[in-house]
Order: sequence, then C-alpha cells, then structure tokens
Amino acid sequence: MNPLLSRRHFIKASAFAAAALPFVPSLSRAVEPKRQIGFALCGLGNLSTHQLAPALQNTKFCKLTGIISGTPEKAKRWQAQYNIPDRNVYNYDTMAKLADNPDIDVVYVVTPNGLHADHTIAAAKAGKHVLCEKPMEVSAERCQQMIDACKAAGKQLAIGYRLHFEPNKLECVRLVREKVLGNLKFIEAGFGFAIGDPKQWRLKKELSGGGPMMDVGIYALQAMRYLSGEEPVSVSAIATTNDTVKFRDIEESLTWQMKFPSGILANGNTTYGFSGINRFSANTERGWLSLNPAYSYHGLKGARSDGQTIQMPDIDQFAAEMDDFAQCILENRPTRVPGEEGLRDMKIITAIYESARTGKVVNLA
Ligand code: NAD
Repeated sequence: MNPLLSRRHFIKASAFAAAALPFVPSLSRAVEPKRQIGFALCGLGNLSTHQLAPALQNTKFCKLTGIISGTPEKAKRWQAQYNIPDRNVYNYDTMAKLADNPDIDVVYVVTPNGLHADHTIAAAKAGKHVLCEKPMEVSAERCQQMIDACKAAGKQLAIGYRLHFEPNKLECVRLVREKVLGNLKFIEAGFGFAIGDPKQWRLKKELSGGGPMMDVGIYALQAMRYLSGEEPVSVSAIATTNDTVKFRDIEESLTWQMKFPSGILANGNTTYGFSGINRFSANTERGWLSLNPAYSYHGLKGARSDGQTIQMPDIDQFAAEMDDFAQCILENRPTRVPGEEGLRDMKIITAIYESARTGKVVNLA
C-alpha cells in the first residue's frame, strides 16, 4: 500500500472521528511545547522498566524527572541510567515531600493494582497530577476515593488506557460508528495468556483484586464499550479453575456476556491458563471487522468482510498516552481517559464477578 495514501487516510479518518466521537483523540498537534511536563514513575517494575521509561524518551511534551521506589539499589541504577538527581528520588513513605518539588508535575502510578489508591491519593495530596495504570484499583469504592482526592487537590487523574490512542483501534471505532458495514449487532472479544511465576502479586487477590478479568479481560471489556459506544445494562459470567494450587485466590479463566441498551450483545473471554487469545470482532448487519492481535503494544492489524485490511501506522502507544496527558495539563483541558472511565470498568467487573459467583444475571442499569 502507498504509505502516503495510508497516512492521508489515517489523518482524514482520525480528524473526522476526533470531531465526532468522545473516545477518539485529536492528532498530536504540530506545536512546540511551552514546556515539558515532568513525570515521576512510581513503581519501577516491568512496565516502567521496559515500556514507560523508554517511551518517555520518545515523547515531545514529557520528560522523566523523578522516581518513586521501595528499593534503593534499583533507584540508584535508574538515577545513573536516566540522569535523575538525588533530590528527585522518593520512596512510598516520602511521597508527601513531592509537594516541594517543582521538577515533578505528574506521578505515574505503576504499582500492583491494590496499591494504586494509596499512591494516587499520596500524589494528589502533594499537589501532583496522576496518571494511573489499569485496572484503576481493586474496587469501585477505592476508585471513587482516587477521583475524590484528585478533585479535592484540583489535579487531573487519567487511567493508562493506552489503546485509546492506537490508530488501528481508532479505525475500528470509526468504521463501526460510521456504520460502514451497517449497524453493530454482536461483539466478541478476548485476551489471555499463560501466567508464569506462581509467587507473583497478580495471583494474590489482595494486591490484584482478581485474576485475568482484572488484568487483561479489562481490555476486551473496553473494546466492547468503545466499539458499541454504549454502557452495558446486564452481565452474566462463568469462571473456572483447573489448577487449584496456582489459582487458589483468583479465577483461572472466565467468560462473560453483556447486553447493551440498543440490543447489541457481547461475548468475552479471558484466561491466565494459556496463551493465544488477543482479538476482537464486531459483527454488523452487512458483515464484520476484526483486529488480531487487538491489544498488543505493537503490530495490531485487522480484516473486514469486504476484503479490505485494517493496518494503520504502528505507534508508541505509551508515548502517545503520556504526550496527550501532558497536553491536557498544558492546555488545561480534560483527559479522554479520566478516573471516571476506570470506575465504570470497575463497576462492570464487580458485576461480572458477582454473576460468576452467584450464577445469576446482574443488572447494571
Ligand atoms: P511488576 O510486578 O513488574 O512491578 C510492580 C512494581 O511495584 C515493582 O517495582 C515492585 O517492586 C513494586 N511494588 C511496590 N509495592 C509492592 C508490593 N507490596 N508487592 C509487589 N510489588 C510492589 O508489575 P507490572 O507488570 O509493572 O505492573 C504494574 C501495573 O501496571 C499494574 O497495575 C498492571 O496492571 C499495569 N500494567 C499495565 C500494562 C499496560 O499495557 N498498560 C502492562 C503491564 C502492566
């Protein structure tokens, strides 16, 4: 395909979608930043090490100025690698001191799910904006506390839903919303992988809040919500566990169904038991479209029933997400992935778990 044509098509599609749809971002503006927004990463684990710190080097509106870590040796290594001065290094107990540090505008919370509220609230109280990883927390109550703390501090709270900035996902949303293949009828979506280390926090409910539904099923749930543009009115779910030693605290696999107000039905699945599910498809009156892989960091691609392929430019999703948040702060405009969006997912996931536990349909309306 002619890369220029594809780029033009992307710009046109995105510009249209940005004007019309709440989920769709505008293209990164060709303006020079007034200043770069200082980011401190809170929790220097896998995502921070292998994705966020490298992505920060690819941003236009952000810079990595600080770190918050419980491990002093790790902090030292990061300081050397990213040239971070001693005055910008914190641990989880010294976050109140962030209040005195003008180098740091945003705290990016990248700790286990069940610690997100503690770290978000500490950052907000220190007068910082917060970008918090998904899932937002482990309960709707804790999500609400995070929203309240950021509101009280007059600071923005965004959730790390990186796919809201991904061109292939945006193209699918455009195709569905413009009814290019007719009205949407069914959505099928699933994301799962074989989890490794049996000692990790993802397998401990207190820190994770749940199993694959919380961790990666949430991407499929998001796909259902952004494709339909609606909120579900009812859910039902079934969970199963084969390895009862490894998965004694959480579900191993889960499937769920949802009904939307217009009558659209959705069918989802997620697992920690095996790899290979990373897709969504949308069936419409006159055909279908699908993405597979649908949620990876790179290489998303898809197909349509009319024979066309879906293959938009492959971007650094994390850099796009952080640059967008920085622009929201610089321009004093709201993020398209606010805390309320994380809270909506948490309420639905809570209902999914309730249905899996009780065997009953749970109404959400
Ligand atoms: P990780 O285990 O690799 O890192 C977690 C970090 O938190 C570690 O540095 C660890 O030392 C620290 N930590 C602080 N207190 C801890 C405690 N009590 N127990 C365990 N660790 C503690 O995890 P990760 O894969 O980097 O995930 C972190 C967050 O990022 C999670 O919320 C996860 O859902 C999210 N995540 C998002 C994406 C995405 O694509 N957006 C991808 C991976 C992870």
